[in-house]
Amino acid sequence: MIWNKEFETMERKRLASMQTGLLQQQVERIYNKNAFYKGKMDAAGIKPSGIKSIEDIEKLPFITKSEMRDVYPYGLLSCDVNDIVEIHTSSGTTGKPVVDAYTQKDIDIWAEVMARTFTMGGATAKDRIQNAYGYGLFTGGLGAHYGARKIGAMVIPISGGNTKRQLQIMNDFGTTILSCTPSYSLYIAEVAAEEKLDFSKFSLKAGFFGAEPWSDNMRREIEDKLNIKAYDIYGLTEIIGPGVASECERQDMLHINEDHFFPEIIDPQTGQTLPDGEKGELVITTLTKEGTPLIRYRTRDITYLNREKCGCGRTSVRMHRILGRTDDMLIIRGVNVFPSQIEEVLLRIEGVEPQYQLIVERKDNMDCLEVQVEVNDAIFSDEIKSLEAGEKRIEKELREALLVHAKVKLVEPKAIARSEGKAKRIIDKRVF
Ligand code: ADP
Ligand code: ZN
Repeated sequence: MIWNKEFETMERKRLASMQTGLLQQQVERIYNKNAFYKGKMDAAGIKPSGIKSIEDIEKLPFITKSEMRDVYPYGLLSCDVNDIVEIHTSSGTTGKPVVDAYTQKDIDIWAEVMARTFTMGGATAKDRIQNAYGYGLFTGGLGAHYGARKIGAMVIPISGGNTKRQLQIMNDFGTTILSCTPSYSLYIAEVAAEEKLDFSKFSLKAGFFGAEPWSDNMRREIEDKLNIKAYDIYGLTEIIGPGVASECERQDMLHINEDHFFPEIIDPQTGQTLPDGEKGELVITTLTKEGTPLIRYRTRDITYLNREKCGCGRTSVRMHRILGRTDDMLIIRGVNVFPSQIEEVLLRIEGVEPQYQLIVERKDNMDCLEVQVEVNDAIFSDEIKSLEAGEKRIEKELREALLVHAKVKLVEPKAIARSEGKAKRIIDKRVF
């Protein structure tokens, strides 16, 4: 099923001309209504009349997270403050949070793109969606909620946490769909195993997972352990929250809702636009946002684009699952290392659980990376000698994949702290 055939399967030429019109309107509006944007455009020497086609987007200046923080809390508003009906913010763990303000139309679009997301993974009005994303200022909970309501499904707005209760509710209410972070889904599976619950006896059939990086191997683990199909969904507070892009039933890259969010890939060093298929930083422009529109927002997320038509019939451009972030990219002795690369290697190995932490330290001016990873009971209760052999083997595989040495420490099951939201994978103790 396709939720919105007209827009999701629009012929690409028509789509481009629609995007041109939307961009022109958006630029006109922000230039006239927002002093910060007017200042930026004047400084770059570009007027709204200079935007003649969607390709002219490259003439517009980028916006970064730190600029958004500078104008906190209301500096990006491009409508009357009384027209704002809801506010969300990012977690703000690294400074002031960034603010996403929505008009009623923005909320309606949010529900629309999340309705597309759920429908892409086969959800219908007959489904019972257990929404274990956190409700509150975080966008995950309410974004998924609006979309689930829009398709007419039954929503179970349980929010994150209280894992035993999640399982109880899942069983009692016959939940068919779970939405939460991928790491939390694995924690739910773990608690289920402790409670001797068998997912093949549950009605659960699919999960919509996002808000943090995960890999294809982790997908397989989740699908096996929960006996479901696991879909990747992508979004960020700055743009709208979840609903920017998601996988269809082919699970072959994420369809971007291009009629609302215009994607570009740039070289993060030079800012130059890169051709389709080349890896770089994802830049997004909100074409229809009224509350806090963003023009060429640098997401710091790394991916690449594919414009070939998907077998599902949708014509939208697809992005590869996020490969890393320009800022959580670790630089270990000069080598760029993405946590996702490490995860790929770890999850190839028998007996290794998808629970790991990366600890980076500087000893005698040398970066040292330690990978702590949980193994299952069978392996952990083996002799010390075989544990050491396991560590050496993983070290060797990591060296081949990363081109840098990492020390591996196998730890007992449940040794690594669990999270009910986003997992904390990196502990960087270096002081720069
Ligand atoms: P913050 O974590 O900064 O408070 P958000 O909660 O909006 O803000 O998180 C957005 C970020 O989460 C994205 O920029 C991206 O790095 C990450 N993210 C979201 N969905 C996914 C996904 N499906 N795969 C990988 N990373 C994701
Ligand atoms: Zn598709």
